[in-house]
Amino acid sequence: MNNAELTARSLARVWNPCTQMQDHEWLPLVPIRRAEGVWLEDFDGRRYLDAVSSWWTNLFGHRHPHIVERLKAQLDVLDHVIFAGFTHEPAVRLAEKLCAIAPAGLARVFYADIGSAAVEVALKMSHHYWRNLGQPQKTRFIALTGGYHGETLGALAVGGTGLYRDAYAPLLMQPIHVRSPDCCPMVEDGRAPGESWEDYSRRAFRHMEQALERHAGEVAAVIVEPLVQAATGMRMYHPVYLKLLRQACDRHGVHLIADEIAVGFGRSGRMFACDWAGIAPDFMCLSKGLTGGTLPLACVLTTDAVYRAFYDDYATYKAFLHSHSYTGNPLACAAALATLEIFEQQDWLAHNRRNGQLMWNAVADLSRHPQVAEIRQQGMILAIELARNPERRQAYPAEQRRGLRVYRHGLERGVLLRPLGNVIYFMPPYVIDIEEIAQMAAAAIEGIQQATRD
Ligand SMILES: *Cc1c(COP(=O)(O)O)cnc(C)c1O
Repeated sequence: MNNAELTARSLARVWNPCTQMQDHEWLPLVPIRRAEGVWLEDFDGRRYLDAVSSWWTNLFGHRHPHIVERLKAQLDVLDHVIFAGFTHEPAVRLAEKLCAIAPAGLARVFYADIGSAAVEVALKMSHHYWRNLGQPQKTRFIALTGGYHGETLGALAVGGTGLYRDAYAPLLMQPIHVRSPDCCPMVEDGRAPGESWEDYSRRAFRHMEQALERHAGEVAAVIVEPLVQAATGMRMYHPVYLKLLRQACDRHGVHLIADEIAVGFGRSGRMFACDWAGIAPDFMCLSKGLTGGTLPLACVLTTDAVYRAFYDDYATYKAFLHSHSYTGNPLACAAALATLEIFEQQDWLAHNRRNGQLMWNAVADLSRHPQVAEIRQQGMILAIELARNPERRQAYPAEQRRGLRVYRHGLERGVLLRPLGNVIYFMPPYVIDIEEIAQMAAAAIEGIQQATRD
């Protein structure tokens, strides 16, 4: 097998996600044979540094020996078992560990298989809670513009990114979209020059306050991505917004759903992004890094108060009957347990503070580049926003695909930098070392210089 052969066979039969397949008439599809640490290797022996952690899933490098060992051991004992009426040790131990590290008050774990499914669970559970409490009119959700919560119809409905949502708009429930506290200087009527992220995030909260005042009676929950609106282009805001949101949700009798699918497990610089604000949501959605990037698994953590609202005689029909065939898959739970054990082996948050600083230093000079509107960072996420004219808030038109030029340059230099439109970002596995950071940054800097030349 070589690159050309596998690519041709793939293009003949396989439909890839999030892709205009026609692009592959001129854009190479990269066939990966094996992976180790931060490196992916193709069939011709070329290596690529996985600077996006394979869609934000990987934490400790590919095929981490501890996860591999635990997975193999689990495979010898129990592959899968129905999770209704039955339980198993990996799911129980994982639930115990998750509750121990989660924000205080999150005491129950409901498993699902993918991130979008976890979002569906949280939305349904929130509405169903109010229904069980005699408030069935709480059927709506408040969501932020620029948010992203997945691709299934419910999760897509509460998303606020037109690129993913518009084609399906007629199929979707209508959330109440509130203006995002996004601090990027490219935002129209956004953060004023010299205004701090904290001041702007606080100021932007008035939109949320107004929506809650007007709609609280019909709203079950507010759903947000804490601190980083990842899929929209790693747009960021200050933790004070989460603090204000927690207080306002309590005041108005509305749940708070924190979608930590992208930012959980140390990615934000704390274990969970909510920890920056010292708050606990009513529902916390987790996936992606949960298994260290090995197997699909997701879960929703919630409170005992929510759990108790469903706990009653069968004939009251209050039970949460949602299920997925692979709920709580033992192999995935074993991989997640192994991932949490790696967290216990050393202080990864301190390690990431150093790595985050190294990433910043490696690209800091770009802040003087005339087509760089902003370099922003939250923990192990660093994003570089390109713009035709940052002073005038003129973005590059999407069809010019400037980010894609950086992507192509990255591949030539052996670095996988999959952009989000005009945003180039680093979100590498935590085990990346100083030389690898230098190589990743060099590829991005050169790529940006070439992509913005004309
Ligand atoms: C990726 C993502 C999802 C969806 O997870 P899938 O596993 O792709 O369904 C939901 N929310 C956020 C914040 C994400 O980044």
